[in-house]
Parts: sequence; C-alpha cells; structure tokens
Amino acid sequence: MIENKEKLKLYTWNEVSKHNQKNDLWIIVDGKVYDITKWVGYHPGGEDILLLSGGRDSTNLFESYHPMTDKHYSLIKQYEIGYISSYEHPKYVEKSQFYSTLKQRVRNHFKMTSQDPKVSVGVFTRLSLIYLLLFVTYYLANFSTNNFWFNCLFAIFYGVSNSLFGLHMMHDACHTAITHNPLVWKIMGATFDLFTGASFYAWCHQHVIGHHLYTNVRNADPDLGQGEIDFRIVTPYQSRSWYHKYQHIYAPVLYGVYSLKYRLQDHEIFTKKSNGSIRYSPISTIDTIVYISGKLVFIVSRFILPLIYNHSFLHLICYFFITELILGWYLAISFQVSHVVEELQFFATPEIVDGADHPLPSTFNQDWAILQVKTTQDYAQDSILSTFFSGGLNLQVIHHCFPTIAQDYYPQIVPILKEVCKEYNVTYHCKPTFTEAIKSHINYLYKMGNDPGYVRKPVDKDD
Ligand SMILES: [Zn+2]
Repeated sequence: MIENKEKLKLYTWNEVSKHNQKNDLWIIVDGKVYDITKWVGYHPGGEDILLLSGGRDSTNLFESYHPMTDKHYSLIKQYEIGYISSYEHPKYVEKSQFYSTLKQRVRNHFKMTSQDPKVSVGVFTRLSLIYLLLFVTYYLANFSTNNFWFNCLFAIFYGVSNSLFGLHMMHDACHTAITHNPLVWKIMGATFDLFTGASFYAWCHQHVIGHHLYTNVRNADPDLGQGEIDFRIVTPYQSRSWYHKYQHIYAPVLYGVYSLKYRLQDHEIFTKKSNGSIRYSPISTIDTIVYISGKLVFIVSRFILPLIYNHSFLHLICYFFITELILGWYLAISFQVSHVVEELQFFATPEIVDGADHPLPSTFNQDWAILQVKTTQDYAQDSILSTFFSGGLNLQVIHHCFPTIAQDYYPQIVPILKEVCKEYNVTYHCKPTFTEAIKSHINYLYKMGNDPGYVRKPVDKDD
C-alpha cells in the first residue's frame, strides 16, 4: 500500500485543469487525482456531467450526485493516479457524520416507501404542464390578438411561464433530477436554449459547478457577484461605496434585468471562457450547435414571427420588456430570498489570480453539507402553491443537500433533514411565508448598505 502510494504523483490544480476533455479527463475527489478517461463511456449518468466535472475538484459533486449509493467510491479507486498539492477554490476540510447520516435516512425513506427518487407520475404530469403553459402563453402573447392591453397582460403570463420553465424544467435537467436517462436531460437542456434563448451549458457551470459547490462563498459562487466594484454589497468581504446605502431600493428594481443580462453574458463560454472564477469546460460541437440554434430561434420566435403577425415594432418591444422584466424579477427574487438574508452565513476565498496555484492551506474549516444549511433558508414550507410556483425552491435547503432528487419529493424528506439538523445541532432556517422571506432580503440589503457597525472582515476567514 505504501509502495503504491509512493508511485503516485503530486499534481497542482493547474495541471489537473488541463485534463478536461472526453479523451483526457481527470477529476479531483477528496484530495486525490483520478484519470477517468476510460470510464466516460460507461458512466450510467452519461458523459456530460463528467465533462462538467473534468479538470476540477469534484468532491462534493461526486458525493451529492450519488446520494442513493456508495458504489462510486469503490469504483473510482482503480483510476487513481496521484494527489493534489494545491486548490483552485476553497477546500472543505471537515467531513462530519452529518451528511452520511442524512443520506442514509433519506435512502431508507425511499426504500421503505418503494419510490424512485427521479421518477413518478407526478414528475411527468408537472413537466407536461410546464411545457403546455409555455406554449399556450407564447401563442397568446404573440399571435392571439393585436389589442395592446391584452398583449401586455399576455406578456406578463408569458413571463411567468418562462420563469416556471426555468425553475422546473431547466433546473431539474441541470441537476439530472428527472428520470435516470442522460439523453432526457440533454434534450430538456436543449429545449431551454431553443425556447428561451439562454444557454443551458452556461447555466450548468454557473449553477451546478459554481453556486451549488460554493454556496455564498464570495469569489467562488457566481450568484454573489465578483470584484471590488459591485452594484450590491451583500457579504462582509466587500467594501462599501456611497451608493450602497440605497441598495435596498435600487437592487430589487435592477433584478428585473437579470434574465437579459444572463442571456447577453453567456457568450463568455467562447470569449472569456469563464464565468468569474468558474472556468468553462471546452464546449462540444453539439453544445455549440445547440447554443447557436437557441439564439437564432430566440430572434425568430420573439421578434421576426410576431412582426410578421403584424405587431408594430414599438408595441413588440414593449411586450418583450414586460416579459423579460417579469422573468428577471421572478427568478432573481426566488434565488435571493433563499440565500441573501441576515440569518445566513457568508464566506470568502482570496481573489482568483489567473493560473495561480493556491497552496493547500487555502482551505476553510467547513463541512460542505453543513455549509449548505448555514447558507440557505426555506420559506412557506407547508404551502403547495409556494412549492409549485418556486419550483420546490421554498424547500431550498433540502434541494442543496439532494440536488439530484426530483423536487416532487422535497416535502417528504424535509422532516428527515430537520431531524438530522437537530441531532447535529445545525440551525435550520425557515421563514413562515414568502412575504417574510422577501422582507428579510430587503432588510439585509438595507443593513449591509447602512449599518454603521459594519466592519470589513479579513478575507478567507469563516465564521
Ligand atoms: Zn439547484
């Protein structure tokens, strides 16, 4: 065993990052480097999620994307080639029994109730309804009438159905939470490009690789923004500017352009090749075709066809912005009320310098699964309506612990999470209503922009 260990090489994260393609794919799990090139074609979860993980520390993705089994740990051993000597992003050093206890109890629950965590009649009914809503509201908003006021109303409906499409279909697909078939996830992802004009490929990097692995970690979670100058100050690791004192007023207004910004920003897959500190994996030909097709279909379906139908250009622009603002507010507020509130915790990693190797001590003393609970809050947990209209994100804590389980099951397993949190003395945060959750977000923005007791903490310190 010791002899074998001596033969293994020591790699920096920078060296590992170069092995990120199908014919040369390495990942880091628990400080070890694995060459999984030969495994790509056999992975039951398909190649896309492996390509997304390629060249990175995939420890927590590896763990949270296989919640119902431990087989993956024994299987990967044969591909071990070395150890890691440095990290790109913070490393979670503690691994408590919290997550293993939680996983075991959730496994028992699905076993005892004979349910499949990714498949049920409810799952397919919900998704069919979401697709139907999208098509019906698209038709109503663009081709049902030339009456300006009716079209404004239908543009609102279309904005809501676009939001639901994102929170259900796109979100479930990126987390492989619908069926066990990678082709289904791929097709669902492509429909996101084709029906909304936004890149599913970019979303997987922002959300799966960035937000879920480094939740509320400044300089690593793309949802928190990056850099010294930011329109909001939401972590103790940023400097306050004069305009931040008004952020509780202007930030919620600016959330309306969230979806437009996202759609305009996804060209960074090809240009900057990163979203902040999250590197994009090299994009495949198929994904490039899907990306380009998505943009073309968007222009044709949102502008050219409605113009042919005889809407005036000015009216069309008006409908377009109504839909986009509704979509932006809906999505941005859904995300903010779950993570950016006073009761939750924020962390930071040093600014990423291009190509720099951060030595092993760039770690922080946190267990990944417990950090998910510390950085996330639920709201209106017993409301079926909230669960549907938020795409299960009113139960966001359980989503962060089990992203690959279909959202339909969250209400069943939240009690297990609460029970385990109690046993391990981890505070579970929940607001009674959506209104309370919004209030807590606005209050937090006000406090961060105005509290005279605010002191900038040194970077790389946790609680
Ligand atoms: Zn998610």
